[in-house]
Amino acid sequence: MPTPPQQDAFAYAMSSNQAWAGYKGHQNPEFFPKLATGQKPAILWLGCSDSRCPETTILGLQPGDVFVHRNIANIVSPTDINTSAVIEYAVTQLQVKHVVLCGHTSCGGAAATLAGGRVGGVLDLWLSPLRALRHAHEEELTALGGAGGDKTAATTRLAELNVEAGIRVLMANPVIQDAVAERGLQVHGTLFDIASGRIRDLGLGTNKGKGLRSGHSVGSDGEVVRGRYATLVFQTDGAAGMQVC
Ligand SMILES: [Zn+2]
Repeated sequence: MPTPPQQDAFAYAMSSNQAWAGYKGHQNPEFFPKLATGQKPAILWLGCSDSRCPETTILGLQPGDVFVHRNIANIVSPTDINTSAVIEYAVTQLQVKHVVLCGHTSCGGAAATLAGGRVGGVLDLWLSPLRALRHAHEEELTALGGAGGDKTAATTRLAELNVEAGIRVLMANPVIQDAVAERGLQVHGTLFDIASGRIRDLGLGTNKGKGLRSGHSVGSDGEVVRGRYATLVFQTDGAAGMQVC
């Protein structure tokens, strides 16, 4: 139900929470008591703060399924103690099986970077890795958005390049390197297409070089989304909810 324009957004959100908790508790009386006993998420999600990319919702998962760090433009910086602490806790303590870095279309950080100029304050410093990517791929990005064309394709491409750069940082992280070697932790680079609601696997990280498996099939309990290099499978029968192969 849409938010009535005259109603305070916070009051609406609080009443919505009451309704949601009531519905979930009615649907499954054990849900919240079980949730309160602890977490064992299989997925660490690194994504953008954008309000249109709520990871648990767009994955079709539930509270307890996804450990999360989100920031503006899903930038993975090795010296960012916030990102690094989340990664270390998720990988070494929670023992997640998948690390998913997800960019998205229509990202404001990518659009601002392509537009040039200054955003203001600390944001220009935060977005500097995107600016460096833009300079490194200026020719390709200009071609995509050139000749008076709209910036959508270039913005999406910069978001992809940003995921690639983030995956390189993740694959160089010693905590992740150890977990990949010792217990087969998987690292995935993905892009969420807001206009369709679909997540595309970019075939990066531990999935790199495996290529698109044409003709790959799964059981009737999963939905298959074919990306450029790989296939994303949403399982419905397990707590993890998702398997990337
Ligand atoms: Zn964004």
